[in-house]
Amino acid sequence: MKPGKATTGKSITAGGAGKFYEEPIDPYLPGVGNRGYRVSRYELDLTYKVASNRLAGKATVTAATTQARTKFAFDLSQSLAVSKVSVNGTRAAKYAHQNGKLTVTPAQKIPSGGALSVTVQYAGTPKPVRGPWGEVGWEELSEGAIVASQPNGAASWFPCDDHPSSKASYQISITTDSPYHVVANGALVRKQVRASHTTWVYEQSEPMASYLATVQIGPYERRRVATNTPVVMHAVLPQRLRTRFDHDFARQPEMMETFIRLFGPYPFADYTVVVTDDELEIPVEAQGISVFGANHCDGRRGSERLVAHELAHQWFGNSLTLGAWRHIWLHEGFACYAEWLWSENSGGPTAREIAAQVHRTQSGLPYDLVLGDPGPTLMFDDRVYKRGALTVHALRTELGDDNFFALLHEWTAKYRYGTVTTEDFTDLAAHYSDRSLRPLWDGWLVGRTLPALRDV
Ligand SMILES: [Zn+2]
Repeated sequence: MKPGKATTGKSITAGGAGKFYEEPIDPYLPGVGNRGYRVSRYELDLTYKVASNRLAGKATVTAATTQARTKFAFDLSQSLAVSKVSVNGTRAAKYAHQNGKLTVTPAQKIPSGGALSVTVQYAGTPKPVRGPWGEVGWEELSEGAIVASQPNGAASWFPCDDHPSSKASYQISITTDSPYHVVANGALVRKQVRASHTTWVYEQSEPMASYLATVQIGPYERRRVATNTPVVMHAVLPQRLRTRFDHDFARQPEMMETFIRLFGPYPFADYTVVVTDDELEIPVEAQGISVFGANHCDGRRGSERLVAHELAHQWFGNSLTLGAWRHIWLHEGFACYAEWLWSENSGGPTAREIAAQVHRTQSGLPYDLVLGDPGPTLMFDDRVYKRGALTVHALRTELGDDNFFALLHEWTAKYRYGTVTTEDFTDLAAHYSDRSLRPLWDGWLVGRTLPALRDV
């Protein structure tokens, strides 16, 4: 088996008007993602009441059809009730909202390649989506809200094509109670205060996968940190955590400069770190934003490894996004290796030393995991992160530092804002080696046993 070979689904007409049996877009998440159109833009106009966790919205999804079909589906949680749907400015002939799918029948048939603009009005009490990886999506905090949607939580707050290969620009407008600070992806283009309510409008112009779309609402203050780095960086957090934050995140500007040197230009206009007043089990990546919990500010830099991990996702995951969830090591293996690179570049143990130690621990674990196709239940398993990072390290050893870092630069430039697969990476890597890398990929990505490291 060749790692990274894309699975292309086919749609099979089972006879009958509009009845289709369709292979899932992604076998790891068979319920989500939709066929027949490509979204280019989402415009979300939302109102949120913090005290009652009530969300009301109007979403306009702009797309181009890729097939002539009678109806089009969007992912949308049943926690939200749809009140009106229009297509290209006229009321939809029909719509149905069942099992997390909003199916829309336009009044007039749209040819393939035609414009599809769907406006959906909806409201409800948003709840996270439950799955094998815990609860993801819109979640209430003690005071405010957090959105962390990897992998399928976007449908908990807006109608979407909830698959990472579907990337689009976004405008997110949120009206909420005035005392709260709101962060969403991209640039704040407008803020309008009206007595008890404030409207915040954010524009995300670089393409973004739906799981990376986010809204953060809380009793936060926003501050610019690091005024002399090439990338504008902000911190958004409760006032009470400021002293600890200033200590724990002090090396972030240096980290940003290190990663730009090692990976290539930072892909977005700015970078914001949000720290919630609540504790969070794990930090969360969003496009241009990372979200940490109050517990990640311990005043001892105890989470600096995670600060590096989340920042690295801006290149590996957010700018370059997997085309199917089986390629998850392209996100987590690289972000984990970035932790080791940060250590090496900031006076800590070298990546080689960390790799040797991690390899010893991994050798003692039962190995039934195939890194290039771990399966849906294991896709966020710690072994994907650690073996993924070891794979990147094995490649670095094989190529040598000059070629390895040149490859990383070309990888992040060639596929900037795009969709990537394992095969895209192995194909590109082949240009940086005189010898075939096939044995390396077979061992690390396809094999079930842990290959030895060459440099330890
Ligand atoms: Zn990660």
